[in-house]
Amino acid sequence: MRSGNLRLGWLWFLWICAALVSCASPAAPPAVDIPTMEGTTPFPVTETPTVVLSTPTSDPPQPAPAQPTLPAYTIHAVYDAAQKKVTVNQAIQYTHLSTQPIREIVLMVEPNRFPNGFVLNRLEDQNTGLRLSWELQRNWMKIGLDEPLSYRQSISIVAEYNLQLPEIPPPSETSKPQIYGYTQRQTNLVDWYLWLPPFNDETGWVVHPPSFFGEYTVYPLADFEVYFEAVNSPRPLKVAASSNPVEENQSRWEYRFNHARNFAISLSAEFEVSEFEADGVKISHYFFPLYRRQGEVVLNHTIQAYRLYSELFGELPRQSISVVQADFLDGMEFDGLFFLSKGFYDLYDGTDKGYLTLITVHETAHQWWYAAVANDQAQHPWLDEALCTYAERLYYERFLPDLMDWWWFYRVNFYQPQGVIDLTVYDYAGYLAYRDAVYLRGALFLEELRRDLGEVPFFEGLARYYVDNNGKIAVPNDFYTAFNLTESEIREKFKPYFGSQP
Ligand SMILES: [Zn+2]
Repeated sequence: MRSGNLRLGWLWFLWICAALVSCASPAAPPAVDIPTMEGTTPFPVTETPTVVLSTPTSDPPQPAPAQPTLPAYTIHAVYDAAQKKVTVNQAIQYTHLSTQPIREIVLMVEPNRFPNGFVLNRLEDQNTGLRLSWELQRNWMKIGLDEPLSYRQSISIVAEYNLQLPEIPPPSETSKPQIYGYTQRQTNLVDWYLWLPPFNDETGWVVHPPSFFGEYTVYPLADFEVYFEAVNSPRPLKVAASSNPVEENQSRWEYRFNHARNFAISLSAEFEVSEFEADGVKISHYFFPLYRRQGEVVLNHTIQAYRLYSELFGELPRQSISVVQADFLDGMEFDGLFFLSKGFYDLYDGTDKGYLTLITVHETAHQWWYAAVANDQAQHPWLDEALCTYAERLYYERFLPDLMDWWWFYRVNFYQPQGVIDLTVYDYAGYLAYRDAVYLRGALFLEELRRDLGEVPFFEGLARYYVDNNGKIAVPNDFYTAFNLTESEIREKFKPYFGSQP
């Protein structure tokens, strides 16, 4: 999820001026409400919230407990830097672990949301060599199976396709920042391959339509084997990815990333890289030239946040974290990699009273709340966003206690946030209503929960929520249970934060 922060539109310059003015009185709030773009943009919500693509009906037999067999993707990709195209050969292995037999497989195809963005050349069953029938719609593809796939049966699918990358448009007041695609100096491949959404025994494949703000994708764990090659680049490219390469050879990179949510890549010939190994985890920061000062700040905060959250929440099952300066105006997390808006770097005033510090530690927290413990981002966006916003508070509390009041005022209370925290991304009236409720009121709810429970039970509950749900897709009840509370107790005790219907 996005970081609930500013997205800098054309009022950016005005904000810089406001920020400069407010430097004189450091505790003062910004003179301009920062998320300018969203505040003025109507986001009509016309989507149906959830597409249920398969609804099994029969009663299941009772099988022995399944060994977890994760979806596995073997991806061979060639990126043509001159044509901004990616040619992909991908094998998808899927073992059906539900007792409900299925007659169709659903794959997410996010590149298909862009005009001519996805062209499928071949799709077949790897074992039989037979072609598979498919139907492509917006951001998903449905594959028909001649024979139903039953419990513990597997299928291997081979897909060959081309991606035509879209240009990342300049900041706009009418659409949210685009991450996938290219700018003059950066190419970002996020959700760029075919992937399996979760399968729910009762409702089938969990596929949500794109939302106007907030995220809507849901990621079960999968194993990734990625062979990536860049051709036709006049200058050598540096590559940031969700994991460290296991092999690297000029313009070829090879990765293994197991038990992961997704695999993101960002390329630029201009990246400078600073790295640090913290407790066996390599933390790398990829930034553009002339941002060395910010480069150091971001790396240091990421390292400190990594250590703090490891202590407070639990050990992160990762070997690397890549932080990437984004050539678009937003922050965004992926597994093992997150983007930080170039706007935050430009606005950095040499202090920690700004978005560069705040969003760095917010995005770092998503490695715990989103990557390790995932959630349905469309249905329960508060589960990761409230926790990551509150993680900012925990970070300031530990390392920048003098700025604690500033954080509460500037980040939360200045906006006088309203709204219940537990709606879906489709149910809020606009970005600001969504941010105010899910991020800001979400943080206030966690603060009240902490006050109500007391320090030790609160932090024990957070750690329990983490350990019990690591590798899973958590639902609100998992969160309540970790604090030894029921949903009705939570709703009763913290009424103003929750909608009336469970
Ligand atoms: Zn976030």
